[in-house]
Amino acid sequence: RTVYVNGEYLPEDEAKVSIFDRGFLMADGVYEVTSVLDGKLIDFGGHLARLNRSLTALGMPDPLSEAEWLDVHRQLVDKNGITDGMVYLQVTRGNPGDRDFVYPPADTPQTVVLFTQSKPGMADIPQARTGLKVVTIDDIRWGRRDIKTVQLLYPSMAKMEAKARGADDAWLVQDGKVTEGTSNNAYIVKDGKIITRDLSHDILHGITRAAVLRFAREAQMQVEERSFTPDEAREADEAFVTSASTFVMPVVEIDGVPLGDGRPGRVAARLREVYLDEMRKAAV
Ligand code: PLP
Repeated sequence: RTVYVNGEYLPEDEAKVSIFDRGFLMADGVYEVTSVLDGKLIDFGGHLARLNRSLTALGMPDPLSEAEWLDVHRQLVDKNGITDGMVYLQVTRGNPGDRDFVYPPADTPQTVVLFTQSKPGMADIPQARTGLKVVTIDDIRWGRRDIKTVQLLYPSMAKMEAKARGADDAWLVQDGKVTEGTSNNAYIVKDGKIITRDLSHDILHGITRAAVLRFAREAQMQVEERSFTPDEAREADEAFVTSASTFVMPVVEIDGVPLGDGRPGRVAARLREVYLDEMRKAAV
């Protein structure tokens, strides 16, 4: 596989990053994941806009221009022959030469790494037809989940606990309300109304969330942006999650309680179809 590191395209086993890199020592970095369908980037503009927002929130400049980001993404898709899959990008505050809590001088070069993952047929995975089982787990992450940092240990632990409990994923709960999934935004549907937590520092502002809510409103579906409890979720007619790499995925069980008839709901199925259709058309 060819990867990109600080301006160079290299075979993955020749790519190097310093052990003093603040991304490695302090999780001082941000990332984005952009899906590729039919060799084209899905919602690339959305992901670049959020990258910029994350970098700004951490006082980091954007190391590349929009045209340069697009070029690196396209080159990697091309060099690795990706039809369906994703491009991962990460920017860290770089290598200050020593470990120090104080940020290095502003002219310290940032570390920029991109790589691809091939996932043939990712838009048509069987789980989209069977749905996910989730369990609710305490949300003890830090307070700025709107910044897409590489600090992913707790989501990873929560996912492991979900698997140990026989589920596919976890929905995280803070002060009695669902925040989001370990790596996706969470929704319930009740009496035809789509309910998902409102935007704040408590959740990642999903790029897929923004697109899906836009399509839902355009289709005259009712949308309510507010938090909901695990009890309300377990009594919902249906539920689903959204993320750039899984699009819209139905949830059929929460904490062992089947939703509705225990099968993927119609709203989730329709939104998945609309999302994939529209985003393929707009792909770059
Ligand atoms: N919430 C969290 C915690 C995530 O990690 C992600 C994606 O990685 C999302 C939500 C969904 O965001 P997006 O739709 O931009 O992929």
